[in-house]
Amino acid sequence: MRSMDVDTMAAMSQVIAAYEHFTISTHIHPDGDAIGSQLAFYSFLKELGKHVVLINRDPVPANLRFLPNADEISAQLPSQPSEVLIVLDAGDLTRIGEELVEPLRPQYLTLNIDHHAHCCEFGDYNLIMPEACATAEILYYFFTKHAQNLGITRGDEIGHERAVCLYTGIMYDTGCFRYSNATPAAHQVAAELVTEGVAVDEIYDSVYECIPVRKIRLLSDVLQTFRLSCEERCAWLYVTQQMLKEHGATEEDLDGFINYIRAIDTVEVALLFSETRQGKTKVSFRSKGAVDVGAISASLGGGGHQRAAGCTLSEDRIVVIPYVVKKVGEAISSNANSIDKDTNRSDSRAPQCE
Ligand code: AMP
Ligand code: MN
Ligand code: MN
Repeated sequence: MRSMDVDTMAAMSQVIAAYEHFTISTHIHPDGDAIGSQLAFYSFLKELGKHVVLINRDPVPANLRFLPNADEISAQLPSQPSEVLIVLDAGDLTRIGEELVEPLRPQYLTLNIDHHAHCCEFGDYNLIMPEACATAEILYYFFTKHAQNLGITRGDEIGHERAVCLYTGIMYDTGCFRYSNATPAAHQVAAELVTEGVAVDEIYDSVYECIPVRKIRLLSDVLQTFRLSCEERCAWLYVTQQMLKEHGATEEDLDGFINYIRAIDTVEVALLFSETRQGKTKVSFRSKGAVDVGAISASLGGGGHQRAAGCTLSEDRIVVIPYVVKKVGEAISSNANSIDKDTNRSDSRAPQCE
């Protein structure tokens, strides 16, 4: 097992033992790790007989509704604040949606569990493990270590319901075990979950082999916007609200589009610019090489990881695209320069960016 913050885990387990009313929330536009982690925690607390409310700003994506108890998640605010708020997979408290921060303020304590490198310590207890591939991986350690202490009788087993949720989170955030965060520890935890009886093929099919026709039609339009710059090292796509409307699609249908251009042989950084309903521009970043897109995104007020990040800018794409592409081009160039310096090469081929 990894080295981990056992003191914080022990403190969180005492908080769970001491209180009865919990709310669990996760980030806006929730993904497989967000929902998987939230439902795994729900299952854990319910087994302990706790009163648990699941509140997210945005609905559960259709391809994650197969997860056990997904129907329990709602956007409905409770009439009374809970004693404890648990926030999962959100690098910052505002990532649950600014409009939820005040209404979800708990009576006593906030627990923050996350794997984002730049996660700020907004909780009273903060269990942050940037080396974990997913929040679900952290929960696996927490549940297996503390289930028995808290009174779950077969505490040495994770339980099938929780195993399905956690496996989904790990599968999702590792890109089906393809990304660099698919560490030995990630595989070991996944192996334990499969031992619990998780049907990996069924989970894969539920999450990825259920594409609605409208999504393919939308993809066809979005691919028309494909552009390259920076000696083909930076690629991008954009999508407008009009394009979504034409196909009866939502932002949820954009999931995975960026991977098509990320996969291009010359590309180091892929970008997807999408117009939000408020007329802002959401930027998704993916890096294949050494460019730290988490740092670029953080400098623009967003967050994420070294190889997957995002931010939302208030301007229109006409302004945002050239600005962000230039910033990415500079990062690619300076990265190429530092590699040249490291290897003592004199034939620096720093790219000229558009
Ligand atoms: P996405 O491109 O939306 O799939 O997000 C990739 C990563 O960036 C995820 O880890 C998100 O948590 C993070 N991220 C996306 N949008 C934002 C944002 N506006 N602020 C902070 N982090 C973000
Ligand atoms: Mn997430
Ligand atoms: Mn995650």
